[in-house]
Amino acid sequence: MQFSVVILGCGSAAPTLGRRPSSQVINIRSHHFLVDCGEGTQIQLRKYKIKFQKINQIFISHLHGDHVFGLIGLLSTYHLLGRTKSLEIFGPLGIKEFITTQLRLSEAYLNYELVFTELKLTEKTLIHENTVVKVYAFPLKHRILCHGFMFEEKPTERRLQMAQLKKHKVSIAYANSIKSGKDVTNEEGQLIKNELLSKDPPPTRSYAYCSDTIYHEPIADYVKNVNLLYHESTFLENLRDRAEKTFHSTALDAAKIAKLSGAGQLLIGHYSARYLNSEPLLNEAKGLFVNTLAAEDGMIVEIQN
Ligand SMILES: [Zn+2]
Ligand SMILES: [Zn+2]
Repeated sequence: MQFSVVILGCGSAAPTLGRRPSSQVINIRSHHFLVDCGEGTQIQLRKYKIKFQKINQIFISHLHGDHVFGLIGLLSTYHLLGRTKSLEIFGPLGIKEFITTQLRLSEAYLNYELVFTELKLTEKTLIHENTVVKVYAFPLKHRILCHGFMFEEKPTERRLQMAQLKKHKVSIAYANSIKSGKDVTNEEGQLIKNELLSKDPPPTRSYAYCSDTIYHEPIADYVKNVNLLYHESTFLENLRDRAEKTFHSTALDAAKIAKLSGAGQLLIGHYSARYLNSEPLLNEAKGLFVNTLAAEDGMIVEIQN
C-alpha cells in the first residue's frame, strides 16, 4: 500500500534553475498532503502530475519565504480552477494574517473556504486525523516560530483467510467483523477465534518532516523510531559557525538526529545554493548514518518498514 513522499523542492532561500524551495507532497493510500509551499510549488505540482484537487490539507512549517511564498499563488489558482471544497491550512501563529492580508489588499475573493489552524507548540501534538493517518506537529528551533510534522499511518484491517473461513464453517457474512478483529460463531454454534480466520495487517509506517532548525536533540524524541526522517542539511560541517548563526543544521547534524532517534532511513535536503551538487552533503551524513538519501526535485521516496 502506498506511502510515499514526492519532493517538489529541496533548495533553501532563493529558487535556482536546479532546485525549487521547500515543498513536498505526502501520499498515504491516496490521501495527499502538501507540506510547505515555496515559490513555484504549483508549477512543480503540474510538472510531477499531482492533481491539485486531491490536496485538502496544507501544512506550513514556518513563515520564511522559501517555505510559504508559493501559497498565495496556489490558493488563487484553486479559485480559478473552480474549487468549492474547503481547504485546511495548518501553520505557525500568524499564517492566517499572512494570507488574509494578501487577499484583502489584492481584493481577491476565493470561492471556497480556508480553515486555518494556527500552531505555537511546546510539545508534540496531534493536529489532524483521518481514516488512514494521524498527523502530529512538534516544535523545531529556528529564528522564527517553526514546527516539524510527523505522519503516522494507521493500521489497515486484518487480512481475511478465505480458506480458513470455509474450514471452520464460518459465514462470509461475518467478513467485516473478522476484519475488525472480532471472534465469531460458526454454523455449528461454536465460537471461532479471530486469529484462526485472519492474519495481522502489514506493519504501519511513519514519516517525519523537519524543516529549518538548528541541531536540537529533543527532535530525536519527537520522531523516535520513525521509518523515514527528512531533516534539513543546509550546510556542510566546515560551515558550522554559519549554520549556528542562521539556526540551520549541517549534514552531520541531520545524521546525528537520525541516529539518536533510531530512524530507519534519513533523507536530507534544504541545501544552501552554494552546493550545486548534493554529494558532499550526502557523504558527510553517510559517514555517521549509512542509510541516507539526498533529496532532489522530482524524487519519489517510498516509506519502508
Ligand atoms: Zn528555509
Ligand atoms: Zn527558515
